[in-house]
Amino acid sequence: MSTTAQPPVFDSLKSAMRGPVLLPADDGYDAARAVYNGMISRRPAAIARCADVADVMTAVRFGRENGLTVSVRGGGHNAGGLGVWEDALVIDLSAMRGVTVDPAGKTVRAEGGCVWGDVDHAAGAFGLATPSGFLSTTGVGGLTLGGGIGYLSRRFGLTIDNLLAADVVLADGSFATASADTHPDLFWALRGGGGNFGIVTSFLFRCHDVGTVVAGPVLYDIADVADVMRWYREMQPSLPEELSGWLGLLTIPPAPPFPEPLWLRKACGIVWCYTGPPDRADAVLAAVRGFGSPLLDGIQPMPFPVLQSIFDALYPAGLQWYWRADFFREISDPAIAIHQKFGEALPTPHSTMHLYPIDGAVHRVGPDATAFAYRDVGWAGVIVGVDPDPASAGKIKDWAVRYWEALHPTSAGGAYVNFMMDEGSDRVRSSYGPNYDRLARVKARYDPGNFFRINQNIPPAG
Ligand SMILES: Cc1cc2nc3c(=O)[nH]c(=O)nc-3n(C[C@H](O)[C@H](O)[C@H](O)COP(=O)(O)OP(=O)(O)OC[C@H]3O[C@@H](n4cnc5c(N)ncnc54)[C@H](O)[C@@H]3O)c2cc1C
Repeated sequence: MSTTAQPPVFDSLKSAMRGPVLLPADDGYDAARAVYNGMISRRPAAIARCADVADVMTAVRFGRENGLTVSVRGGGHNAGGLGVWEDALVIDLSAMRGVTVDPAGKTVRAEGGCVWGDVDHAAGAFGLATPSGFLSTTGVGGLTLGGGIGYLSRRFGLTIDNLLAADVVLADGSFATASADTHPDLFWALRGGGGNFGIVTSFLFRCHDVGTVVAGPVLYDIADVADVMRWYREMQPSLPEELSGWLGLLTIPPAPPFPEPLWLRKACGIVWCYTGPPDRADAVLAAVRGFGSPLLDGIQPMPFPVLQSIFDALYPAGLQWYWRADFFREISDPAIAIHQKFGEALPTPHSTMHLYPIDGAVHRVGPDATAFAYRDVGWAGVIVGVDPDPASAGKIKDWAVRYWEALHPTSAGGAYVNFMMDEGSDRVRSSYGPNYDRLARVKARYDPGNFFRINQNIPPAG
């Protein structure tokens, strides 16, 4: 530990917590304040690395009693880096990563600081999985509380559609379990309303039988993007729910397993994932493999946790990221022309645009059944300018903003809150649509002082 003098204000927190409290002069402070998005560098007053639920309750009460701004860090992946805030007390859950699987009951319980790789690893051993996202390094906490869109959504719903219960430390430092039977209004709000309502110390999810999947990318030349998109917008909704494919505009990475002649070529890709009976895989996939003239067909059998981590190495922590997003009811012809223009002009090799299907099981849950309002759209779109070099920050932001401004008129109006940086309160309101007022009322009940405000904030009603 450093010998530099520390202000005494955090002494009582240090002595009350089992986990460490890191102050700016401490070894480990800089590593603990770093978030996934390298564009963000904030210096909190202290980082309370909680060891257990008792530590979380202690840190919340300490924050209240001392009038501190508090931010909550789960996996640290948030686009706007909302887990770590300037001059705040960070309640850091990253040491709380326990996972327990109940193979007989087909459930998994994950502590609030887990990343999805923790859950995939534990549940995968039993041939089970719960819907999550498309990477293993993303936090369970933030992803779940915003909704959760992933490979399994089409067949089994959003992550929140598989959430059975959540243990929550509330703004007054008390503890509650939210489920369909206990605190149902809180449970409703947690399913999409983000970190506004409390700190979730553990999530209980329903699992499904997902062992080996048949999955991987099919890549086409960027010149074919209009044909691919016109075909995809008709094909994807007509497919059996065991098959889901998200579409991306990308630069083919200059590394194995991609063949060297394709390195750094701009492309339009669809990453397919088939989760149905193995003996039907070839027949179902034939419908999508037969289209066009792919540069590469990487579809192959693999354990689901392998698919979940397949893109991790391409996007290590610390890159510069600039995000813009929207939901889309359709992929219109004018939208396709915009995708073609900006896809051909991807500003850096890591920059990309993705369209994730919102259909199947996601549509079978009503738009007011959970806080996640945009149930009836076709796709969640995200544009990300990404590069390792901080000097590229302006270039990647400019491309993403211009692309989004051109495309936004073709959108459904709001965006997936987990794909937004700071776009202001009107964007948050439009992303919750008709559910916003009820969210504000639940906020007034559980956090009337807006203690949890470092998030896509929903101020309390009244
Ligand atoms: C590379 C990358 C890939 C992604 N892929 C997907 C994807 O496939 N599908 C998808 O749906 N989303 C995806 N996302 C978006 C992701 O869901 C959000 O970035 C989410 O906020 C990350 O959660 P986190 O816990 O890692 O973030 P953090 O930065 O730790 O936290 C984000 C927000 O959630 C709150 N929070 C986190 N944990 C808790 C908790 N336990 N209790 C209360 N509040 C909490 C924080 O206070 C903060 O406001 C991706 C993001 C990245 C960077």
